[in-house]
Amino acid sequence: MTRRRRCVLGCAIAIVLLPVLLWSCAPLILGQIAGASRHAPEEMERGLSPAARALFDRAYAGLDSQRLLDVHTHVAGLGANGSGCSVNPEMLTWAHPWKRAQFLVYAHAARITDLERGDEQFAERLRALVASNPRHGRHGLLAFDRHYRADGTIDEARTEMHVPNDWVFTLAARDPELFVPVCSVHPYRKDALQELERCAAKGAKLCKWLPNAMGIDPMDPKCDAFYAKAAELGVALLSHSGDEHAVDAEGAQDLGNPLRLRRALEHGATVVLAHCATLGEGVDLDDPSSQRVPNFELFLRLMGEERWKGRLFGEISAVVLANRATSVVGTLLERTDLHARLVNGSDYPLPAIRVVWSARRFANDGYLTDEEARALEELYDYNPLVFDFVLKRTLKHPKTGARFADDVFLVKRELGY
Ligand SMILES: [Zn+2]
Repeated sequence: MTRRRRCVLGCAIAIVLLPVLLWSCAPLILGQIAGASRHAPEEMERGLSPAARALFDRAYAGLDSQRLLDVHTHVAGLGANGSGCSVNPEMLTWAHPWKRAQFLVYAHAARITDLERGDEQFAERLRALVASNPRHGRHGLLAFDRHYRADGTIDEARTEMHVPNDWVFTLAARDPELFVPVCSVHPYRKDALQELERCAAKGAKLCKWLPNAMGIDPMDPKCDAFYAKAAELGVALLSHSGDEHAVDAEGAQDLGNPLRLRRALEHGATVVLAHCATLGEGVDLDDPSSQRVPNFELFLRLMGEERWKGRLFGEISAVVLANRATSVVGTLLERTDLHARLVNGSDYPLPAIRVVWSARRFANDGYLTDEEARALEELYDYNPLVFDFVLKRTLKHPKTGARFADDVFLVKRELGY
């Protein structure tokens, strides 16, 4: 056989075999990316080493679990059981490989094995993670509204996912000792005020927005009536702040500028800035001639404004992800003056995606000891939600020694819990 023919034959075999190889390795690849926790969460109680057990105990010491609250826990699904949930159809086809891959990673992390039962499987896995922890508190389950156009009509093509308010009310009602409902109402909806009233009457104390993905400009005067209604009903806005990478938000990152929420505060609403705006840069709206500055800096500026105390909070979900510098967490640990105004969130299922986490880098930068990092890895193998909590409770500023105060993890009177 000539060299050329051997080469052609080799290429042909590779073309045939590569997809077969990829297909057969897919579970392995997904397992590496999103394969949190080799052990069942129920096994944690008897499986932990003494070091991991000690770290777990220390993390929960002095905290009344009845008062623990995680305000940022997602549920999702495809609506197969009448939940009303849906995802963008582009996530279900390889014609959109990036979205498809993203969907598979999330589904794997949430332990969805059968799309026909996906909504229930997502909820069952989450329930097992929370209920198996003897020190669990409650988790705010997030509804997720559709993308609306400025004229109040639904834009299905730009809706990344939809989780109806009634689905989180159903799940929270099943397990009220584990879950509280967090509604999601787009302010441009024609029935926005009525829907917010309905949700408040059913017990929602928080309303989730993701401006970048839902197409909400918090500075738009169209939101003013919504702000006034939220204030009247005692429903706080849990609004994403900073850039957003978990769902597609191309061209809309400026909507995540935390300064845009100042308008909500001016109209009387209570605001919780999710992720403390720890990703991306935004235009300094107080000085439009200036350069773009880190959104985190704008977050700290807003938090520093005296008049919003008691109505403006920061939320620390995802701040420990590997796409943020450890120094961002360092600043939050160091700013003990802000801790009474910070709340905890896990942004589940993100903690269940293995590759976005690293306890090791916090050890390398002096926020954890090597033993603590090892014990955290062990906890991760049982329960990614416990890992997220214990990690945040254990992190210590390398210079000042400051940790997140207990207050960060407990219910806040100002938020109605
Ligand atoms: Zn989230």
